[in-house]
Amino acid sequence: MTVATLPCFFCGQEAPDGLAIAHIAICGLCHERLVRSCPGDPDYDVWVRRLRAFWQGLAEAAISQD
Ligand SMILES: [Zn+2]
Repeated sequence: MTVATLPCFFCGQEAPDGLAIAHIAICGLCHERLVRSCPGDPDYDVWVRRLRAFWQGLAEAAISQD
């Protein structure tokens, strides 16, 4: 699936090589950080919160497409 470049949901940078689901994108760098983050990391809580908002955004996008 090819989409126009969207800003990364997490860092706001353009994410031409990232994943895009609905209208939400995540750049390769943030995806990598997300995959590597684990409990105990200083910014783990931040990522968990961002990820929760990310999924919420996806759910809202799915609802609005109906
Ligand atoms: Zn990013």
